[in-house]
Amino acid sequence: MTQITNHMPTRELQALDAAHHMHPFTADAELARKGARIITRGKGVYLTDSEGQQILDGMAGLWCVNVGYGRKDIAEVAARQMEELCYYNTFFQTSHVPAIALAAEIAKLAPGDLNHVFYAGSGSEANDTNIRLVRRYWEVKGKPGKNIIISRTNAYHGSTMGGGSLGGMAGIHAQGGLPIPNIVHIGQPYWYGEGKDMSAEEFGLLRARELEAKIEELGVDRVAAFIGEPIQGAGGVIVPPATYWPEIQRICDKYGILLIADEVITGFGRTGNWFGSQTLGIKPHIMTIAKGLSSGYAPIGGSIVCDDIAATVGGAGDFNHGYTYCGHPVAAAVALKNLQILQEEKIVDHVRNVAHPYLMERWKALEDHPLVGEASLVGLMGSIALTPNKETRAAFASEAGTVGYRCRERCFANNLVMRHVGDRMIISPPLVITPSEIDVLIERATKSLDECYAGLKSDGLLKAA
Ligand SMILES: *Cc1c(COP(=O)(O)O)cnc(C)c1O
Repeated sequence: MTQITNHMPTRELQALDAAHHMHPFTADAELARKGARIITRGKGVYLTDSEGQQILDGMAGLWCVNVGYGRKDIAEVAARQMEELCYYNTFFQTSHVPAIALAAEIAKLAPGDLNHVFYAGSGSEANDTNIRLVRRYWEVKGKPGKNIIISRTNAYHGSTMGGGSLGGMAGIHAQGGLPIPNIVHIGQPYWYGEGKDMSAEEFGLLRARELEAKIEELGVDRVAAFIGEPIQGAGGVIVPPATYWPEIQRICDKYGILLIADEVITGFGRTGNWFGSQTLGIKPHIMTIAKGLSSGYAPIGGSIVCDDIAATVGGAGDFNHGYTYCGHPVAAAVALKNLQILQEEKIVDHVRNVAHPYLMERWKALEDHPLVGEASLVGLMGSIALTPNKETRAAFASEAGTVGYRCRERCFANNLVMRHVGDRMIISPPLVITPSEIDVLIERATKSLDECYAGLKSDGLLKAA
């Protein structure tokens, strides 16, 4: 067998990658011409690539490596669990210690009566579970027609048929026959991009009340649930106006529809509380979790379910749903260790009291840059809107994403991972980032913005739409 090691020259690795590896959300042919950047190691907030470059990971992988890379203590737990019990299922009236202990710990951390965990291998799978859970709930209640789920445009809930349908991304819906039936979308609370002359507060209410209008239009006896990310992540780190979630909550309460908070990014400390629902004042019936649950050290996700739904669905015979790897013992042991680290090292407090305030000060100062229209940060998820005109919040004349992509390329060249969504730049660094590492992040971001600005100027791209 060919041994593929870190010592193989970058060009050979890139060629093998291009020949055999299909990348997610990627134009493979284009990547094959360019060559993927090969990541070989991680330690703390830094990655190393196959050329020996040290890259500051401003995205914590994909919003997940919250305790930082290279933790030996987590690796040891995984090795021990593999030896003791590498796998067993939880389908046929059996259970095992890691699945039990992790569910109990999650129930302890989750607010209110969110006391039950249905495991999945990822956030997408967990949201597929949620679709079936809420429909099953109403079916057991004698209302099988109450099966429509309302979501938002530009939401991200994963990329399976169910998760991609719940999400509101045009690019995903355009490929493969999505959305599946009985999922509908209302507008997103994106004031900066869509609020025009309205105040943020007015706009937040306007977008929340689209939910009420949609329920009235469809009939409350057909609507099962509303799903939303407390703060949209993949949509561009969009922080809703303060008026938005209280109004959504009021409407869900008034009509008695179930509320699902997709906490895949916002869960486990990202916003400075254990859950984004606590930061935003939301009382969900179900939370979707993944990513930060294990800090990405093992693939695991799940649904945290309230007492009523768990009792209703669990009290009505078999729930015909599950994945081979539900509560996988190695992944569960890893996640449990991760939760222990978050608690013992007081990482959520570090986000709230140290990392957020320091990054906030430096991040906000980026608004003085000629290219930056708005810089926002909740906990450790932040975004900056690039604009050719700060006063009017104008979009660029070029195709959306052209400028963002150029800025991302400058960041990557300067050894900073910062993602772009359209012409917004986003960050979600490991929660353990220190003030001096934040200084490096800001220094590299500023250099990249300067270079991007100079390039736009010389290429005549600083024009408003
Ligand atoms: C990443 C993400 C998902 C999907 O999780 P996967 O583990 O990639 O399937 C779902 N919801 C939100 C909010 C996410 O950010």
